[in-house]
Amino acid sequence: MKPNSLSLKFLGAAGTVTGSKTLLTFNGSKILIDCGLFQGIKSLRKQNWEDLDLASDVSDIILTHAHLDHSGYLPRFVKQGFKGQIHCTPITAKLVRIILLDSAKIQEEDAERANRKKYSKHEKAEPLYTTEDVHHTLNLIVTHEYNEWMVPGPDLRFTFIQNGHIPGSAMVEVHAGVKKIVFSGDLGRLKPLIMPKPKPLPEADLLILESTYGDRLHGVTSAFDQIKEAVNLGYEQKGQILIPSFAVERTQEILYILLCLIRDKKIPSLRIYLDSPMATEVTKVLLSFYEFLKDPELRDIMNRNLEIVSDYRASQAIVAMEECKIVIAGSGMITGGRILHHLEAHISKPSTVVILPGFQALGTRGSDLAKGVPEIKFFGKYYKVQARITQLDSLSAHADRNEILEWVKHTSKLPQRIILNHGEETAAHSLKLKLEHELEIPVLVATPNMHYVMDF
Ligand SMILES: [Zn+2]
Ligand SMILES: [Zn+2]
Repeated sequence: MKPNSLSLKFLGAAGTVTGSKTLLTFNGSKILIDCGLFQGIKSLRKQNWEDLDLASDVSDIILTHAHLDHSGYLPRFVKQGFKGQIHCTPITAKLVRIILLDSAKIQEEDAERANRKKYSKHEKAEPLYTTEDVHHTLNLIVTHEYNEWMVPGPDLRFTFIQNGHIPGSAMVEVHAGVKKIVFSGDLGRLKPLIMPKPKPLPEADLLILESTYGDRLHGVTSAFDQIKEAVNLGYEQKGQILIPSFAVERTQEILYILLCLIRDKKIPSLRIYLDSPMATEVTKVLLSFYEFLKDPELRDIMNRNLEIVSDYRASQAIVAMEECKIVIAGSGMITGGRILHHLEAHISKPSTVVILPGFQALGTRGSDLAKGVPEIKFFGKYYKVQARITQLDSLSAHADRNEILEWVKHTSKLPQRIILNHGEETAAHSLKLKLEHELEIPVLVATPNMHYVMDF
């Protein structure tokens, strides 16, 4: 009998946090774990246009969760000829539909704008993929509950395990012959606010571990206190309380905090406008997921205070309303979305309060505001920043350095080896040293296109 052969190839999220794609080859079977989009700087984004030359060889794709950096390349891969199955949990399937359709719409609009203004260097700007490509992709999705085992090839099986990152997210345990590999996926917080906790790390020969916060710790200031203070200040000043937010998880987390603060009479019972079509869709999909939304008291406050704004004209009317109110609107780093209109109208008023929902990537308006820039540009015009800016520093969907270490330590048996991915180089290397020091097992940092062969 021929000996087994098992290898991994890191096609994305190696030396960076986006573009998650890991190819697992076991004997004749090829499966892809995640199929994400590269995001951020141009040299990374350019890679989304390169064909992988793999689409017809891969039989199955395992999707850890719905975020674009894990799912956003799927339509492109399908366009290249992938005809197999895409496996994920039922909630991931619902979220991925919203996220990919939104992504296609943005791609189509960008291409259309480039052609209209003729600023594309190419003959004709094309979208990376279209809404139609997304529909072809969604047809290939097959859903599985946590802990259900699937068999994509001979002697090869896998299961999803709750990892607490966002609704529907999972780590993946793969058994290939006698070998066990665990892919952590994006690992959630050990003491989450509204998510279930990540399950313990199962026994494995090899762990593929994310390292986004490999060299950092989350802040300790309570988001409840920060939001309470900011909302009360806005109320005293009779101003606008504007919260740019991410559609999945952060919006619901902030909503939860606001509802609790109103219930406990820590802030006044203000009207909350959810002015984001995507966050609204996501919140509707997740109504039955979150435990806090089953609490009758919180549910009651939500029904009374929350107004969902889908219509664009209604959104414009809310922008113009001067009365003190809370607005949650996309996008989370103020790179687009309806928050731009709210900020354009109110950023120059000293009575306005802006609550940034967490980490802001360099080069975004969110990061500029966090740094305290004196003026900011919206729609081609500069506006003086007079509003008071608060940045929440403890909310994050990722485990930080200490949490990652705790999670790995609390397994019943340590893996023989760890490979770090999904992290900037400095974060991954810093975590490597710490893990090797604490656990005394070899740790490797994945590099782009690294090919790792497992011994049998
Ligand atoms: Zn994620
Ligand atoms: Zn990610």
